[in-house]
Amino acid sequence: MQRCRGGALRQPNFWRYAAVLKRSRSTSPFSSLCTKSQPAQAAAPFLFESPRIHALKNIGTRQHSSQSKSASSMDVHRQQVGQISEQVRRLYERGEKFRISHGSTNSTRPSTAKLRSNIIGIGHLSNVLEVDKEAKTVVVEPNVPMDRLVEATLPHGLIPPVIMEFPGITVGGGYAGTSGESSSFKHGYFNETINWVEMILATGEVVRCSKSERPDLFHGAAGAVGTLGVTTLVEIQLIEAKKYVEVTYHPVSSVSEAVRKCELHTNDPNLDYVDGILYSQTQGAIVTGRMTDTPLADLKIQTFSNARDPWYYLHVQNRITDATGPVSELIPLAEYCFRYDRGGFWVGASAFDYFPFPFNNFTRWWLDDFCHTRMLYTSLHASGQSKSYIVQDLALPLDTAEQFIDYTSDTFKIWPLWLCPLKQATMPTIHPHNSDKQANGRPAEHMLNIGLWGPGPKDHDTSIALNRDLERKLIELGGMKWLYAHTYYDEDEFWKIYPRNWYEELRQKYKATSLPNVYDKVKVDVEAEKKEPKTWASMIAGTWPIGGFWAIGKAIQSGTFKQARASTWRTRK
Ligand SMILES: Cc1cc2nc3c(=O)[nH]c(=O)nc-3n(C[C@H](O)[C@H](O)[C@H](O)COP(=O)(O)OP(=O)(O)OC[C@H]3O[C@@H](n4cnc5c(N)ncnc54)[C@H](O)[C@@H]3O)c2cc1C
Repeated sequence: MQRCRGGALRQPNFWRYAAVLKRSRSTSPFSSLCTKSQPAQAAAPFLFESPRIHALKNIGTRQHSSQSKSASSMDVHRQQVGQISEQVRRLYERGEKFRISHGSTNSTRPSTAKLRSNIIGIGHLSNVLEVDKEAKTVVVEPNVPMDRLVEATLPHGLIPPVIMEFPGITVGGGYAGTSGESSSFKHGYFNETINWVEMILATGEVVRCSKSERPDLFHGAAGAVGTLGVTTLVEIQLIEAKKYVEVTYHPVSSVSEAVRKCELHTNDPNLDYVDGILYSQTQGAIVTGRMTDTPLADLKIQTFSNARDPWYYLHVQNRITDATGPVSELIPLAEYCFRYDRGGFWVGASAFDYFPFPFNNFTRWWLDDFCHTRMLYTSLHASGQSKSYIVQDLALPLDTAEQFIDYTSDTFKIWPLWLCPLKQATMPTIHPHNSDKQANGRPAEHMLNIGLWGPGPKDHDTSIALNRDLERKLIELGGMKWLYAHTYYDEDEFWKIYPRNWYEELRQKYKATSLPNVYDKVKVDVEAEKKEPKTWASMIAGTWPIGGFWAIGKAIQSGTFKQARASTWRTRK
């Protein structure tokens, strides 16, 4: 941003910024933090290690200093939580609703003006407080994003079992929302890997919940989008990390083959990861992975985080085109975890279409800072494009998944699609689930998540009609949507799908009825949206191509490209 005479702010010139960003990549103030030779921990926001870790590897004086540091960071945490709980208590006494702001979001729901009142800021709860190597746990505040989490645990040879693919998704958002990834066929949703959670209830009371302490709250708050309380501290389980993920791309030539192969691999106990990409009705890859320190064959090592690296989905397509059978390679573990970051799976390609701008190796390299998910999301929100963009994750029973993909292929014509098998959550739950019984009387173990992300109709009414159609089809086929995205169900319809009685009882029991409920939070209020006054910002955002440049300006202003550059998990080339 530049300040003009008189103090007015002048918007940055995109092209000048792009050139400066590109030039500064090698001389960025962060580059010194990011060299291969430097220990990853040096740049991590890592406040203290458990005394037990120090006892194992450090001498007494360091242990002493670690203990006092641990005490002070926990003291700071308690003090901050005390202040937030006081704010919450006052709102409760006044009978006013509030929402949480943690400074970033991967949700694509629009925020209407009436929703912006009474915001509780928790952005500062963003520290990793303790890694316990022996117990294999990490204690973190909720605003720690996935990349900083991995950077804190990897130096200890440990990693969370479920790491959402986008580095900016936070621990608190992951627990409060629905989050899963290619290891979720084995470990379930992210919350299944959590030992306990500290929460501020709607009354301002600070409580802890786990499988043994307030188990109903611990289970029910997962996926309830913060409507039972504010998460302020979380203990996550860790597993042993290995150096690489040995991935195998299994080419498939039809949707039914893709679904069948997903099912087959989810039953293989030797695998750590399973997901898939469908490029069309006749081309796709099911991707399996296993962590390893000693790869079986002399495989090529592939990275995805450097500006010159390929985008993951393009690389996979490249590997399977003309392949006559499965092909394997090695990906360094953290590079695997965040393989979809550049390009935001493939959503980033739409930004090139928007202008339109050539989409090739050179332009992707040149605009790399803009193509990481944090920057893409900032632009998506600023441009207002999220309103006409279809961004939905839909979980279906394996036996209706093919029918659903045929439907999206005819109706939306959006490719690629992401496939991710998910272990079902314990019911009742707000998470996507299917309680239909199989022949053995138990609900099916897995559902198949289908990521449907692509441009939708420009006309708002047509877009809403199409979204409604999608919701009806989903119900017909026994599927459920993840609630981070646009939801158009009317209230009755919504509560026929989600377990109202159980949820309302929980809200009563934990005095959360003064908070907005799940439906209030996730529905798109079409009428309210229509009545929203047009602002200069919304008019600029809606005007091509000015809206696009405005969004890029906002993304640059946000400075989030620095977080991707500062990442110490990356394998530098
Ligand atoms: C395009 C797209 C792709 C996605 N892909 C994946 C994927 O590959 N894997 C995956 O696992 N997930 C994916 N998600 C879903 C994502 O994990 C969830 O939407 C997650 O909840 C986002 O977390 P966030 O940190 O961005 O938080 P937000 O979106 O800000 O928060 C989610 C909800 O939780 C509430 N919340 C946040 N923090 C707290 C807190 N401390 N206490 C109480 N409530 C809180 C918020 O109010 C909000 O209602 C995707 C989402 C999108 C939009």
